[in-house]
Amino acid sequence: MKVIGGIRLPHKKAAAEVPTSEIPLPKRLTVPMLMSMGKPCTPAVKKGDRVTVGMRIGDPVQEGLCVPVHSPASGTAEDITDFRLADGNTCKAVVIRTDGLQETFHGIRPPVIQNREDFIRAVRESGCTGLGGAGFPTYAKLSFDSKKTPVDTLIINGAECEPYIVSDYREFMENGSDILFGIRTVMDKLEIGRCIIGIEDNKPAAISLMKKIIGSDKSIAVKALPSRYPQGAEKVLILSLTGRIVKEGELPAHCGVIVMNASTVGFLGRYFKNGMPLVQRRITLDGNCVNNPGNFFVPLGTCVSDLMGLCGAEGYEEAFYGGPMMGVSLYDIRQPVTKLNNGITFFKKIHSVQTTACIRCGRCVRACPVKLMPLDLESAYDKKDTKELKRLKAGLCINCGCCTYVCPAGRRLAEKNQLAKQMLAKL
Ligand code: SF4
Ligand code: SF4
Repeated sequence: MKVIGGIRLPHKKAAAEVPTSEIPLPKRLTVPMLMSMGKPCTPAVKKGDRVTVGMRIGDPVQEGLCVPVHSPASGTAEDITDFRLADGNTCKAVVIRTDGLQETFHGIRPPVIQNREDFIRAVRESGCTGLGGAGFPTYAKLSFDSKKTPVDTLIINGAECEPYIVSDYREFMENGSDILFGIRTVMDKLEIGRCIIGIEDNKPAAISLMKKIIGSDKSIAVKALPSRYPQGAEKVLILSLTGRIVKEGELPAHCGVIVMNASTVGFLGRYFKNGMPLVQRRITLDGNCVNNPGNFFVPLGTCVSDLMGLCGAEGYEEAFYGGPMMGVSLYDIRQPVTKLNNGITFFKKIHSVQTTACIRCGRCVRACPVKLMPLDLESAYDKKDTKELKRLKAGLCINCGCCTYVCPAGRRLAEKNQLAKQMLAKL
């Protein structure tokens, strides 16, 4: 198995063996019209409308990447507001006052799928986006042109290499048969011949359970991956499991591979059976000041502040969407849970390291999983030298944070690379 760069991190997965439980339904949900990569939906309800569980409340725009948004609860659309997301972007949000009845929308039924087009349409209608954190609309990922880019391998990403987060692991342990059903449907409808489920070797129970569930089906294999961060990064995973390299500017489909996150394919497995779109998701609540780490099914739009009492996150100083390596710092804990969040982590005593001059030790270079030169990228960014940033291929940075983590001089290399990418994107 090929391994390039990366780092060993403490796993800190205290919630790994905590079964997922439902949370009390919040009185209010704030459901943003943008919960994935791409464009925001247009609200499909107006103030005062009654909504039910699974009812479409956001219509996708025709042009560009976009998936519909559905109501996670029954109740009333109390308001349609302007909303600022954690990444600074803005969109509309539908505020729902829940009624506690959780009445299901009358149109919910399993999708009828007769051909590839029906399949892609159904996946889009489900509102599904990658649940691992990147939020790429799943229908778009599956819409590859099999004549131009024939795909022979479906990879299921079960690496979950971020510390603390265990939502994919719980999907394996609690919903392994949904994952298998989702895999078989995707393979069948897209005519993909084989599937490899990659799971880090620090999750032996998930590996053996999935092998047992799959049984004698030779077209689906489970492979143990080294527990090395960022093993779950798409390009790293493809290289580890197939030896194939996704070239600059290309997608995994160009090397014959589609990668789906374990929770995403598990959700699709359930959706193909019951027709309920993506209205809630499993998240892990953990961190270094959390008294009761756990896993919860959370309706989309639930405020993070409504979750803190469930895990006992007293005394936190910083909260993140996701884990400490690639998570997004929350500027306001009234921010809602979206399709992108596999966990919320709470921390106290985050010391800022004093930044000193680069000692050219090369650790950042050795740690980079995509073989970039983080120290040179930082220098080029500081000079605003866009030509040099392009030559150093700043656009290939996957924002994993390994370079910052290993730097003995406390240099904020990964953060600078993100800014560099934004600068290049504006050219
Ligand atoms: S790890 Fe830090 S100190 Fe070492 S070469 Fe990279 S930037 Fe310089
Ligand atoms: S953040 Fe970017 S530059 Fe730094 S190690 Fe990760 S991929 Fe390499």
